[in-house]
Amino acid sequence: MLTIKRVPTVVSNYQEELENLGCGRNCLGNCCLPVSKLPLYAFNKKRGLAGGKDEKESESEPEKSFLDTLLLGQWEDRMSRGLFRYDVTACETKVIPGNYGFIAQLNEGRHLKKRPTEFRVDKVLQPFDDKKFNFTKVGQEEVLFRFEESNHDETFFFEKAAASSCPSVVAINVSPIEYGHVLLIPRVLDCLPQRIDSESFLLALHMAAEAANPFFRLGYNSLGAFATINHLHFQAYYMSMPFPVEKARTKRIAIMSKGVKMSELCDYPVCGLVFEGGKQLEDLSEAVSLSCICLQNNNIPYNVLISDSGRRIFLFPQCYAEKQALGEVSQELLDTQVNPAVWEISGHMVLKRRKDYEEASEDYAWRLLAEVSLSKERLEEVKAYILEAPGFSETEEREDEMEDTCSTLDKENPFKAHAPHPRFSEGCLVLQ
Ligand SMILES: [Zn+2]
Repeated sequence: MLTIKRVPTVVSNYQEELENLGCGRNCLGNCCLPVSKLPLYAFNKKRGLAGGKDEKESESEPEKSFLDTLLLGQWEDRMSRGLFRYDVTACETKVIPGNYGFIAQLNEGRHLKKRPTEFRVDKVLQPFDDKKFNFTKVGQEEVLFRFEESNHDETFFFEKAAASSCPSVVAINVSPIEYGHVLLIPRVLDCLPQRIDSESFLLALHMAAEAANPFFRLGYNSLGAFATINHLHFQAYYMSMPFPVEKARTKRIAIMSKGVKMSELCDYPVCGLVFEGGKQLEDLSEAVSLSCICLQNNNIPYNVLISDSGRRIFLFPQCYAEKQALGEVSQELLDTQVNPAVWEISGHMVLKRRKDYEEASEDYAWRLLAEVSLSKERLEEVKAYILEAPGFSETEEREDEMEDTCSTLDKENPFKAHAPHPRFSEGCLVLQ
């Protein structure tokens, strides 16, 4: 058994109360949630195509989506109620000089007063354990709203809605690493372990599409790839600039039967696969979730970044925790205590010590991320697993579409038309 010791991130104010809390405190468990009325955002599943942008969007300045407004308004409300462990808007952030634009944040409040815990890192699939902290124990004041599929063909919002049979919720992360940092917890009462299934992944894609803001990304960490809570959840937050990985060149490797294109990252320290296209959000969701399920079944830890409002998805199989457990990571990298999960891999480094922040260089970011990456040979094996996975069908290669060229973000830059939320300029200070 391989384990590493690390300080777990405190995502909820209820995480450290290990004794079974008696109820009557409005939790997300079976005792309270079914009889509670929470705000409900119900999305129209027919909306939100992953492929092209709709006409309205491409012609004029995109309007701020209702989900965006709701999420940020509610998040700020929880901030004013003092539910966060520190003020993330006071954390210094800078772009590390260099070609890639890695982003460094100094976050001294995130890991205070915590003892390291032992985590098993050699099993991507582990059964749900109701004796450990899970999201049913969270108090409802940390929940912003329920996020579920609409029964009608329209999107709607209710301030107070009677419970559904399997509520999915959006809650704050009380240790945010950026503005609007939240958790999406699919079907919280079903107590699903941290593993991707197609239905839950589609829910996460819908959230990205509904937010309709390129600065809003969702991320996922598997067990063994720095998830610390074995209860299914995605994370999401706003970062008002492109992530370095979003600017990296890509090379096409396959086209799936429903038009989903699979590419590989070029010139990036972490090997990764990029998925985009398909006619429906479902097509893209299916291709990615099948890939994730394939990695899970082969016990390969991985991270996922959902970017460009759900149109572009990055999948990073990784091996850092395994190397760490085997004693193969240099002490210098371990000393910075950076846990390279989805955000770090995407290029947003959260540093705990001022010294590391001030000395952060592109070379450091590169060396850290290179340790996360699978080798080229191992990536080839992983690609083969995915392309041979059940349910995965590749179309016959068409020469014109499979050109051996690398594309960059410049072709269709989703950030160009989108003004950052005004809060960014006054809140998180980004030094260029
Ligand atoms: Zn309760």
